[in-house]
Amino acid sequence: MKTFHETITDPEVVRVRGLSKTYGNRVAVDGLDLDVSAGEVLGLIGANGAGKTTTVECIQGLRRPDAGTVRVLGLDPVRDADRVRRLVGSQLQSSALPDRLRVSEAIELFSTRSARDADGLVERFGLEDKLRSSFGSMSGGEQQRVFLVLALLNRPRLVILDELTQGLDPAARREVWSSVAQLRDAGTTVLLVTHELDEAEVLCDRIVAVRSGRVLDAGTPAELVARHAGVATTRFGIRDGDTDGLVRALRSVSGVHDVGLDPGGQVAVRGDRSSIAHVGAWLVSRGAIPADLRVDVPDLEAALLTLLDGREEPAPTASDLTGALR
Ligand code: ATP
Repeated sequence: MKTFHETITDPEVVRVRGLSKTYGNRVAVDGLDLDVSAGEVLGLIGANGAGKTTTVECIQGLRRPDAGTVRVLGLDPVRDADRVRRLVGSQLQSSALPDRLRVSEAIELFSTRSARDADGLVERFGLEDKLRSSFGSMSGGEQQRVFLVLALLNRPRLVILDELTQGLDPAARREVWSSVAQLRDAGTTVLLVTHELDEAEVLCDRIVAVRSGRVLDAGTPAELVARHAGVATTRFGIRDGDTDGLVRALRSVSGVHDVGLDPGGQVAVRGDRSSIAHVGAWLVSRGAIPADLRVDVPDLEAALLTLLDGREEPAPTASDLTGALR
């Protein structure tokens, strides 16, 4: 017989529309839309105070929205709090487990009747030797892996991870990333809250960038790079000769937007990503293979920095549009 979890087949795991939440006169979330589809790792990314935690707390039913709708597998997290809690596995805060609690005891404590066999999970996250260790004696990376085991124990349909690698050293971060990558590869639906750009780049299938409780943009890493990362730049030095003629000729190469000279005298060819290959081919066809050729390729980090550092305005909310139409 199918379990309760398996009877729900909605491909849209989370659907948030027009979510708003204010604390006193502080607007934390301001008309936010968000979808998480089954099997994807969605990254909710933004600076401190952008409204990320408030948003996921509303999704978990821990906070009541002031306005807007939130659905988790079709359920209202406030009205159907118990059912939603059974469907969502969330990472605990480090203070949530007593230092003296052993890993095996934590697993027992958090297992419900629908819990899966913990041995497989413990093995998957490399914690076989740590079952008898007390939580307080473990490294930050090991503790996060315990949280991942606990979050997955009860076969959740959605896993929420909030600031998963905060405070971890680089090696521990990579260790935890590889655990999340395993989840992604196994088709687990994950809502990942982070303000680490490299973390988003490594782990997310799709990203929603937020500022001041509003969505700045949403899309796959490739879409965000195309929209916000700026142009690729190919630079190389030239021997004495007809610089003006060279610059003019390069302007007509496919994908090139503009060509200039850097203060150091290098030619800087800016264009879309395809311009890199076309400029290379153009140089080779003229027998020129500059030893100092360097390419700056726009990446997700550049895109997110442009988006999040305030140079781009948040998308208007429904209430802005209503106001504008009046
Ligand atoms: P961080 O990355 O720092 O965790 P965040 O993006 O998760 O930030 P939130 O924690 O949702 O942002 O906070 C959004 C805004 O709401 C912030 O200005 C914060 O100070 C404020 N805020 C959050 N929780 C409360 C609360 N319980 N009472 C009053 N203000 C709050």
